[in-house]
Formats: sequence, C-alpha cells, structure tokens
Amino acid sequence: MLSRRDFVIAALAAPGLRLPSRKAYDLILRGGTVFDGTGAAGIVADVAIQGGRIVAVARRIRETAGDEIEVRDLAVAPGFIDIHSHADGSLFDDPRVESVLRQGVTTIVVGQDGSSRVPGRSGETSLLPWFQRIEALPSSVNVASMVGLGTVRRVAVGLDNRPATAAELAKMTELVEAALASGACGASTGLEYTPGAFASKEELTALCRPLAARRLPYATHLRNEDDTLLEAIDEAIAIALGAGCPLQISHLKTGGPRNWHKIDAVFERIAKARKEGLDLSFDRYPYIAWATGLTTRFPVWARDGGTEAFLKRLEDPASAAKIREETEADVVQVGGWDKILLTDVSAAADKEAVGKRLLEWAKEKGLEPYQAAVALLKSNGGSVGTVVFAMSEENCERFLAHPQAMVCSDGGAYAVDGPARTGHPHPRGLGTFPRVLGRYVRERKALTLAQAVHKMTGKTAARLRLGDRGRIAMGAAADLVVFDPATVADRATFEDPFQYPVGIPTVVVNGVVALRDGQRVGRGAGKGVSPG
Ligand SMILES: [Zn+2]
Repeated sequence: MLSRRDFVIAALAAPGLRLPSRKAYDLILRGGTVFDGTGAAGIVADVAIQGGRIVAVARRIRETAGDEIEVRDLAVAPGFIDIHSHADGSLFDDPRVESVLRQGVTTIVVGQDGSSRVPGRSGETSLLPWFQRIEALPSSVNVASMVGLGTVRRVAVGLDNRPATAAELAKMTELVEAALASGACGASTGLEYTPGAFASKEELTALCRPLAARRLPYATHLRNEDDTLLEAIDEAIAIALGAGCPLQISHLKTGGPRNWHKIDAVFERIAKARKEGLDLSFDRYPYIAWATGLTTRFPVWARDGGTEAFLKRLEDPASAAKIREETEADVVQVGGWDKILLTDVSAAADKEAVGKRLLEWAKEKGLEPYQAAVALLKSNGGSVGTVVFAMSEENCERFLAHPQAMVCSDGGAYAVDGPARTGHPHPRGLGTFPRVLGRYVRERKALTLAQAVHKMTGKTAARLRLGDRGRIAMGAAADLVVFDPATVADRATFEDPFQYPVGIPTVVVNGVVALRDGQRVGRGAGKGVSPG
C-alpha cells in the first residue's frame, strides 16, 4: 500500500490522479474481541478513535487511521476504573503511575478511607486547581476523587474524640457541598482511622445528605471489618438510608478466621437492604491479606488526639496495660503475630525489619512481640506499614463473583525504578486487575471474562456517574485496554512485589496511546474527571 507521502509524490508526477481524503481517524484498533463494559459477551470488531472519543465500532472499518494497531485474538475493553485507589500518594513524585497504567487502569478514584486533598488545611475547598495540577504533570491516567469525611472533620473539628458542635457540623456540611460542587464523585470514610473514627452515625448521616440529590455514593471503610463486621454494615446501611444516598462498602472482607463464616450474613444484609430500595454495592481486591498501619491493631480510644498522645499512652501506667490487653486480643483475632508482615518503616535502624513477620522480628530482637511492636512504633513516629494475612480464599472468590461487586486495588502506584520504588508494598498496587483476569477468570473460573470486565468498567462508571467512561460505545471517552485473555497475569508477590503484570500490550488514555507493546510511551494524557 502507498503511504500518504508516496501517494502525494505519485499524484504530483501524474496529474489527474486525485489525492485521497485525509486519514479518517486518529487511531484504529483492528480485529480484537470487544468487551463493551456492559457485561455483554465479546464481539470481534474494529474500534476507531478521533479527538479522544470512540467514533466507530464495526465488524470492519474501511477507512484508515493515522495509527493502526492489530489486536487480533486479543480482548479490547474499556480502560479499567479503580474505584478505591491510593495511587495519589506518589502521583506528584512519579506521574508515570507505571504500575497502575500497566494493569490497564485508565482512571483511579482517590480520596479514599476518609482522607482527601480537598478540603485542604490552607482553606482550599475546590478540586479544580488540583485537577489542573494533575493535568499539568501530566499524569498517565485520569484521576477522580471522593471527598474524605475524615479530612473534613480534621479541618472543622480537629483530632479530638468528641461530637461536633452544631456550628462545626454546619461548617463540615458546607465543605462537603463545596467539594461535590467542584467534581468530587462521592464521600468516603475510614472509620477505623483517626479522626474519622470519632464521627457518630448521626454526624455521618448529616454529612451524606448532599450526596442524595446527586445520586453519588457514601463509600465507607467500615467501623470494623472483623468481630463486629455485621454491626458495622448495619451502621453503614442506616447512614445511607438516613441520608437517602447510594452506599458503596469499600474493600469488603470478613477479617480473622473466626469471622469467615459471616459471609452468608453479609450477603443476606446486602440482599435485604437492596430489596428495601437501597442502592448498595461494594468493592473488593483479589488478595487474602490487607495492608494497613500497625496502629490499627491498637484500640481507637488509645489513638485519641493524634500520634503524640498515642505514643505517650503506650508508656502511661494508667493506660499501658489496658492497651496491651486489647491489642493482644486483636492480634489473636487476626491469627497471631506471625500473620503480620512488616512492610514500611522510616527509621534507618529498623530497615532490617521490612519483609519480615512481626514474630520473626521480635525473636531476632530478643523481645516479646508486643514489646517489639511498641518499639517499632516509637522509633518510627507511630508510622509502621504492615500487611496482615487474615482472610479466606474461598470468601475472596465469593466476594469477587457477587453481582454487586466491583474490583478495586486499595493499592498505591509503584514503579520498578524511580521515586515510586519505595518500601515493600502489598502486591495489589501492581497486580490487582490482571490477577482477577488471570487467576479468578481464567484459572478458577469464579466469574466470566465479560462479568469481570463489567466490574472493572461499566458498573464502576455508573456507580460514580462518570457518564462517558467505562464503556466502548459511540461518543464515549477513548480509554481502552488491550489484553490477552490466555496469558494476562499478575507477577507481583508478597515476597517480591516490584513486578509488572504480563499480557497487557496496549493502553489508550483519552485517545492517546499510553502503553504500546507493553512499554509506556508518550506524554501522559490523564485528566481530572468528575460525575456528569
Ligand atoms: Zn480502607
């Protein structure tokens, strides 16, 4: 075939020969099996993109494009949307967000677990300047954000464990309204964290009311995910019903072996609430260990007032014994000190602890495990990253397969090089989406490929009202991923997390090829995205 340049030369040499029209499209993905994100089975089709939008989907597109990629025998899906992401943590240090992009994720939803960039301590109440900064980076992927009700409380009330005054509640409501007006896609809580944990059911119901008219979700890291999980779900349902808004339970799990059997009761509650008219769904990551701060094993009351107050109480004879008793009971519940992997410390003297189980580290130090945990907290200013192995594999599969489940990573963004190669992260930040497609779809057949894609795209976009994303349709934003259903797989492990997945050759963000032949290319084309 002649290139346009050759044709121009030929036309000049032979007057009378007509110039062909310009290339009709920017990009065509040729011959892939298209999963449109609605849950429908795949169909073989070409997909054409122009000006950042999907402009044609057809068995065979006759026109040509400036760039054409042959994707025969591969799956083409809407770019994945990670409904619970912590990738904003390293976004400004490394806007490549390489581990996110390489999973096929094109939109991250941040501002989770009650903590968001807006409202800021210096008075910012709008997401728009932050979105502009993200576009200027530029980020490799799109970013949406919830407003964190813990952050709202920190700004209006501070870190103390007390009810908000009427004036503070009014101020908090104003902050939530302002964040939603500037494009936040929901409101999040982290009720096991401070200061979010200090908010009552009544306070949270009031703060969720502004979500109702917008049909945006209250997304909650529940007040408890183990021994009082069912009570925590009841509270979340009561808040959403009281506020009249949809409910999204974040990273739903049954924590601790003695709570694994509660999954049936969890599903019953979900079914009952939906029957009563509550728009309830949840998300889940495909691993049986969670990642959180070591402080989470310590009682919430001991953390009242912030880190300094907490570290003081660990020493105070009036509180030390009670804190130890409650913490050790919690550790029994997760299965023992051996289930806690140390993943992140800041003190140089403790670097050797990273990658070891707490029990093992305590033995090396000649300490009782509780003493070793307290010593780590003290030398690291209260900030010690852990991964806790206390979930059931069978339940993980049942959660992922549930019709109301969406896929989330709950992870950060990492890279094998550069500033985002840090600590010893949970592998979910590098493997979640390919792990669902490889392990849970191909190997274990827990759900179909079309269902899995829906839980990563169309269902999620509908949940957050990101109207033109999450599907392959005429006019939709051109966020796309191409993967090989036969080989797609995660490579990151708990032992060796800095491994990119395989089987994902191409990712397109806003019509721009961002991953080609498995390698990141070009300038990032990510945008700030909002409902509407
Ligand atoms: Zn969480």
